Amino acid sequence: MKCSEFLNELTNYLDGALDARTKSDLDDHLAWCHNCYVVCDTTRKTIEIYHNSELYELPDDLRVRLRSAIMTKCSEHKKSNPSS
Ligand SMILES: [Zn+2]
Repeated sequence: MKCSEFLNELTNYLDGALDARTKSDLDDHLAWCHNCYVVCDTTRKTIEIYHNSELYELPDDLRVRLRSAIMTKCSEHKKSNPSS
């Protein structure tokens, strides 16, 4: 699974809306990809804050910002590790 695929499923993952197989793919990705782990953790905390304030929809602009942040990080990582 690529980071972009992970990010596409992230909100479903946090909502518990995935089938077991997709969820385990995401768990695998989190096990080795620190960037996505951080994004997942941050997003989970953000969602909790929104839930606490009784806003149940994660705003689209936040989703877009998280996604572009992680994609930037991943491309930086690739540049600094050309062999990987
Ligand atoms: Zn990743």
